Amino acid sequence: MKVVIDERLDALRGSAPRLTYNARSLAALENNPRCALRAVLDASGSDKAAIAAHAGYPSQFGQSIFAITRGNSFEQMVKADGCAELLRVLRETLELTPSEAGYRGLEDVGGDGSPAARHARTTQLLVAAARGAGDSTLYDHPMLKLVVGGHPVYLEPDLVAFRIRDRFHVVEIKSFPIIDGQADPALVRSATTQACAYIIALRAMLAEAGIEPDAVSEKIILVSPKNFTNRPTGAFVDARKQVRNLARQLARIERIGDLVELLPPDLTFDLAADDTGKPQRPAHELAAALDQVPATYRPDCLNHCEMAFFCRSRARACASLDVLGPAVREHLGGIDTATMALGLARGQLTPDDDQTEMALALRHAARLRAELVGSADGPSAGSMR
Ligand code: SF4
Repeated sequence: MKVVIDERLDALRGSAPRLTYNARSLAALENNPRCALRAVLDASGSDKAAIAAHAGYPSQFGQSIFAITRGNSFEQMVKADGCAELLRVLRETLELTPSEAGYRGLEDVGGDGSPAARHARTTQLLVAAARGAGDSTLYDHPMLKLVVGGHPVYLEPDLVAFRIRDRFHVVEIKSFPIIDGQADPALVRSATTQACAYIIALRAMLAEAGIEPDAVSEKIILVSPKNFTNRPTGAFVDARKQVRNLARQLARIERIGDLVELLPPDLTFDLAADDTGKPQRPAHELAAALDQVPATYRPDCLNHCEMAFFCRSRARACASLDVLGPAVREHLGGIDTATMALGLARGQLTPDDDQTEMALALRHAARLRAELVGSADGPSAGSMR
């Protein structure tokens, strides 16, 4: 059965090489768990950026070069001089004592920087540490591994700190500021979700050695610039809920066969590239193939998914309430489209039994709006009174 599903996923991807997950793409799973299109594209290893671009909706997704450079230089500064600044932050935040602060860099193993070698060494050191052996508290750039949909995914946290009440903590070093103890919630959420993938991978690694999941804390340590300075500070972020959500999404990928079975057997997202790599497939045909898989667009897709402009255009074309976000959709339960909501508000549509209450509320809101703006666009007197 697994072979059949893999063949179907390969056919969906077509001739392009399989893309593997990374921490960012795994984290994105947690952001729109209902989306079948994203699940299918990711599980098949399809290149979402190339597909969106060829369908006519190139993404402006991802970090700018400026943001990446700033992030790298902040991380280097935090880790400079034997992690002096980092240790200061970890002592302040976690109350580590100096004798606990041993440091181990895991960016290569005797000059071998391959993921497999680094993962083997990481496993050896972290399992030993969890069993009470070893001399380190900080593990810099360990290499973790998760098997997602039968394919290995290597993941590299900024740092793992150990021996805080005998528990590992994942440390995320980010260059966005913490101002008066507060940081941008969207950026914190994004950093936390990424760290959840590390927590799950670290737990999986330790579980193979018979070590309980409790050995890895679900509180991540966020290290960021303090206020408007470049001086690092730290904060705990509770990631319990996100860890649970992401674990659920990973389990869903293992069941991707259920979803694939519902798709037309000849469906493919193949770009039919020529020898130079230039896609030859007509863009409208690709768009029609994408339309066959349900997508649940919401505004924050713009922050998380390369398909966002394509899906937004589709949602707008069918006047879907999804473009207005989950809060509006939830509020307008039983109403599927903006056209329907406007029709009910203007009294141009007759509500069914389930929509009666909402229709009254919409008509009331429309009347208030008309009174406020005095606009001819408001509902007609006859339909509202
Ligand atoms: S942008 Fe489209 S494919 Fe991506 S998560 Fe949102 S709805 Fe799904």
